[in-house]
Amino acid sequence: QAKEGGRGGYRFFSPEMNQKLRERRALEADLRVALAQGGFRLAYQPQVNLDTGAVIGAEALLRWERPGIGNMPPDRFISVAEETGLIGPIGTWALQEACREACTWPGQLTIAVNVSPVQFRQSGLYEAVVAALESSGLPPERLELEITEGVLLNDTEETLATLHRLRELGVKIAMDDFGTGYSSLGYLQKFPFDKVKIDRSFVRHLGGDRSAEAIVRAVVGMSHALGVHTIAEGVETLLQADMLRQKGCEEVQGFMFGKPMNASDFVALLGSEEVP
Ligand code: C2E
Ligand code: MG
Ligand code: MG
Ligand code: MG
Repeated sequence: QAKEGGRGGYRFFSPEMNQKLRERRALEADLRVALAQGGFRLAYQPQVNLDTGAVIGAEALLRWERPGIGNMPPDRFISVAEETGLIGPIGTWALQEACREACTWPGQLTIAVNVSPVQFRQSGLYEAVVAALESSGLPPERLELEITEGVLLNDTEETLATLHRLRELGVKIAMDDFGTGYSSLGYLQKFPFDKVKIDRSFVRHLGGDRSAEAIVRAVVGMSHALGVHTIAEGVETLLQADMLRQKGCEEVQGFMFGKPMNASDFVALLGSEEVP
């Protein structure tokens, strides 16, 4: 259909492609407005110690009520934010907001913030982390950055240097979605992570699928051998939690222990916890 363009010229985009481009541009424009006008918020999902049942912290998850459309899950806009570079300022906002909120929580509770590979590669991530810590007063030890294997794919020298600098600050680094990327094992050796997050795709099949069990056992064993502890994501059932405990996984996060919730609900949950 490329020949049917107007004025005898060539048309490079099919109507469907034009439609996609228009939607993408509209999404980008709406993201800019949300960024400028405070349209994003964070939801907090509890992270729980599997032995004691105590809440040890939360993961901050981006939420966006898109005007005229409704709730847009991050999976549907992060990629456009990455392509347009908007992930930088959006990620900086998330860091600021998460640190400010976590500072009001009691004791040693940690806050985990996701950092996209693109955000990581843009200059200024280190400075953004320092600024968020300074303006909130949150001790660095209570901030954890969740990165995926994508972060380690390119720019290895510079990336590793940044990770080491962040760690020297006292910030914790967790490997998110572990097992879904490429040559995962190698990455664990390349950089000393503080925590490995076992991906939901393995947790989901625990109890049904023997190979999922074998993978979880292997990931926990290998992490422990490297001196790293593990957290499982997407835990929905008691059976999954039991199997994870059996295999030596220390922490869990999932709908069984709490869905992502607003800040005040998270604080209320802390208040309702029984003190052992
Ligand atoms: P993630 O970091 O792996 O976050 C976990 C996702 O699993 C969240 O989805 C969470 O709501 C969902 N989840 C947690 N427990 C369960 C469970 O028991 N069952 C099921 N079915 N799902 C569960 P969400 O909030 O839609 O976020 C999706 C992804 O978007 C995140 O995956 C993360 O990669 C990205 N994301 C979210 N917030 C941010 C952010 O502030 N910055 C960046 N760069 N990425 C973010
Ligand atoms: Mg995460
Ligand atoms: Mg994850
Ligand atoms: Mg995930």
